[in-house]
Amino acid sequence: MKAMLLLDIAPIGNSPLHLTDLPLPEPGPGEVRIKIACCAICRTDLHVIEGDLPRQKLPIVPGHQVVGVVEKLGPGCSRWKPGQRVGVAWLRHTCGKCRFCTAGKENLCASTLFTGYHADGGYAEYTVAPEAFCYEIPAAFSDHEAAPLLCAGIIGYRALKRCNPQPGGRLALYGFGSSAHVVIQIALHRGCEVYVVTRGEKHRELARRMGARWVGETAEEMPVKADSAIIFAPAGELVPPALEHLEKGGALALAGIYMTDVPPLDYERHLFYERDVHSVTCNTREDGRELLAEAAAVPLRPHTTVYPLAEANRALQDLKNDRINGTGVLDCTNL
Ligand SMILES: [Zn+2]
Ligand SMILES: [Zn+2]
Repeated sequence: MKAMLLLDIAPIGNSPLHLTDLPLPEPGPGEVRIKIACCAICRTDLHVIEGDLPRQKLPIVPGHQVVGVVEKLGPGCSRWKPGQRVGVAWLRHTCGKCRFCTAGKENLCASTLFTGYHADGGYAEYTVAPEAFCYEIPAAFSDHEAAPLLCAGIIGYRALKRCNPQPGGRLALYGFGSSAHVVIQIALHRGCEVYVVTRGEKHRELARRMGARWVGETAEEMPVKADSAIIFAPAGELVPPALEHLEKGGALALAGIYMTDVPPLDYERHLFYERDVHSVTCNTREDGRELLAEAAAVPLRPHTTVYPLAEANRALQDLKNDRINGTGVLDCTNL
């Protein structure tokens, strides 16, 4: 099969993904083989490729927002049938037994493994995944619409849970990339007012078009304080102003898997009056199922820019340079 393979950590500007012929992967016990239709790209792929995250499996096929069709069952599989459409996301293994797994917090399990990081992912024609970690894709979505939901959607959904905006409440979004453009649709559907802070003019235009109450370049310009806020940009320097522009009793969620250092906080200005900060660490499978159900009910419509699989380097360069509105998706049936 064809795959875009990362041999070693390197800046994305060097085009480190190589179109390679790999053997067709064989599903092990409890795994299914999936013929991939498409795979959305994510900032986490950049963090894996450029070495912001500790190095794991190398070489690696990145990609963790995979939509495709079950093609072959490994030994002991019973959940899916060949021909069924499924999605594969970042989380692909937990122990199932520890105090976190048994308390509904499997995202915090010490044995978590991730797609496109510990095991080959979706920048390829085929992949294998544990059947217990595949999602059913609602019929409401095309393959290309479904792919962004599998990380941008799920992580956005978990970030919403962590800062808990109420109907009629004000939600501020810092950064307006892939995940934020999904979150705004859920938040508006729930009856929230949405305020968007982002540097990119194209991103501000999209946010306005999608129904943001207010759009601007910095928190200081925001006309009101938010009840809830989410920082999507991996920029720690956004934390103090986001907290300063949070209403008393408000909550801030940090949605990234990676963030640059957070500057010192002033207790009175940034934290007092019961303002809470929550990080977001991956997601549970329950989050994924809830997001897919709510997304189908909205129904949510991701904006996508489609690239051929072989142009994964260019797609990620566009992501890094904020040139993509919505989500970039690799068409894995088109080389
Ligand atoms: Zn566990
Ligand atoms: Zn992701």
